[in-house]
Amino acid sequence: MNNEARHYTGNALLDGLPEAEHTQLLERAQKIDLRQKEDVRHLEGPSHVLFPTTSVLASGLVSHEGVQIGIDIIGRQGLVGVPTLLGLDANPTTLTTVVAGECWRIGAAECQAAMVPGTRFADVSRAFLAYSWRHASQTSLCNLLHTVEQRMCRWLLMIHEQAGADDFPLTHDSLAQMLGVHRQTVTVAAGELQSEQILSSRRGRMGILDRRRLEERACECYRVIRQFFDQVVRGQDTAPPPANFDNAPSWMVEVGR
Ligand SMILES: [Zn+2]
Repeated sequence: MNNEARHYTGNALLDGLPEAEHTQLLERAQKIDLRQKEDVRHLEGPSHVLFPTTSVLASGLVSHEGVQIGIDIIGRQGLVGVPTLLGLDANPTTLTTVVAGECWRIGAAECQAAMVPGTRFADVSRAFLAYSWRHASQTSLCNLLHTVEQRMCRWLLMIHEQAGADDFPLTHDSLAQMLGVHRQTVTVAAGELQSEQILSSRRGRMGILDRRRLEERACECYRVIRQFFDQVVRGQDTAPPPANFDNAPSWMVEVGR
């Protein structure tokens, strides 16, 4: 690890650690490239924990009938491998790259050894575990009560903030898998948002043209989860952004510093 990498890995959880913890964790870390739509389950637990930087991953579950539904979007503000951190071997979720890019891969043993009570890493890991539980609970409610368009807007907002770019590779197929619906349903909903200049969608890419209006179209789950994340993981009570905030919210800029 050189000094430049020490100060900025690109993953907010790692970059928020004190120097000694940061150095210890990254001593044997590997930086790996993830391809678009790659199944990365084998790269993670139970042997490793992933800390995305420029990549964005989607976890999901598949029913016996083969229907998949998304559980979470994880990018530069999070980690993949909560069961591994807890020392568990079993994790039934799928894990796919939504946006190609890089991530840090750190051994389970190193991560577990770093979870000494009182350390920042232990605090952050516990907080992220709480977030994962909270997010899964909210997603259960969301899937039952909210419309496909509302849910689609929520997932797009999550991908947007984790990707850190207004335009990213994302097909209607991938989005349909996360939502557990047919591709045509996504195409219709995306077409409506496109006609209102909220979203752009072409050639396997989607772009966020008007984030504020996209938030208005999303269900309340996005804001509920965002506030929980800010309070518990980032350790601060973040007031809702002002109505006139632009396409680059301050917390996105801050995380990508
Ligand atoms: Zn919802």
